Amino acid sequence: MYDRIGNFLIDQRLEIDPANFAFAYHLLSDPNGALARAVASLTDGGVRLTQRDIETLGCEMKPVSGVAAAKEKADGLVAQTQMQVEGFEDMVHAMRAETEGFGRDLAASAEAITRSAGDNAVALGEVARITAEMLERVRTAESRLESVTNEASELRTKLEEARDNARRDPLTDLPNRRAFEEAFAAHSDADQPVCLAVCDVDHFKSVNDRFGHAVGDRVLKAIAESLTKTCGEHMVARYGGEEFAVLFVGVDLETAKATLDTARATVSAKNYRLRESDAPLGAVTFSAGISPSRGGEMCSTVFQRADRLLYAAKESGRNCVRVG
Ligand code: GH3
Ligand code: MG
Ligand code: MG
Repeated sequence: MYDRIGNFLIDQRLEIDPANFAFAYHLLSDPNGALARAVASLTDGGVRLTQRDIETLGCEMKPVSGVAAAKEKADGLVAQTQMQVEGFEDMVHAMRAETEGFGRDLAASAEAITRSAGDNAVALGEVARITAEMLERVRTAESRLESVTNEASELRTKLEEARDNARRDPLTDLPNRRAFEEAFAAHSDADQPVCLAVCDVDHFKSVNDRFGHAVGDRVLKAIAESLTKTCGEHMVARYGGEEFAVLFVGVDLETAKATLDTARATVSAKNYRLRESDAPLGAVTFSAGISPSRGGEMCSTVFQRADRLLYAAKESGRNCVRVG
């Protein structure tokens, strides 16, 4: 195994570092697994793996790594806590309904006893006092239950927020890479066609260099909005720094390409200006690659294809969409 790993890394001209070593180990120890199939399709025709391929494919084997396992465990805990909170809330509601009825009965009895007291006023007065005391206790218990119910539902809201935050990019408010990969997995077995697009802002470093990071951030937000608006119901995610991914579901490749091209034209036609001085920023454009998913493929496999098309788009002059 040691020799095979070494030969693989040398063949692929990859650095012999722990990440690549682990990658090769996973690949070679399961020659018929999903990772091996993904690598075979990428290296078909003698193409060598790039470091970027390793990074993207590496995400798919993360469930065996500590970080991803911890994440999955955290997800499980969140779901479990949520169920517990829900069960607790139900229980509290049921208890409140019961004590409310009980309190009403007691109040009515106390009133009837006082009205019909007559000669036995002293004895009955005592009964009424005890009843009133019990009633007070029931009311105290009810208000405690109410505050516990409120705390429980606040906790549930916070848990839901935490779950959502883990899947959202705070700058653009778009779904993040994790949410995108989950959405891809949810659609990959369905009968509908799925196309994946990768968009990368052209010469974005120069926007930051000329106008500063804050302006760069605003440009990213504007691009996120244009993409989201044009792509409608199709998921637009912030995949990484200045990269966005779009998951087209239920439309053919031509329609997906036309939609993305509209978004590209909209972005490039905008007159971006500095908020402070109204000075023009110059054109901002993006390039993109788009590829259809062929039944049951992993997200990383389709992503790799789209990513290679994106780089072809960059090489052919940028501000264009390549399909394949
Ligand atoms: P290319 O057309 O080849 O893609 O050129 P590029 O300049 O866009 O590519 P490069 O990868 O050299 O630079 C990407 C830049 O994006 C560098 C990084 O600082 C910037 N960037 C990534 N994330 C953010 C962010 O959240 N905010 C800002 N302002 N800049 C970001
Ligand atoms: Mg980039
Ligand atoms: Mg770029």
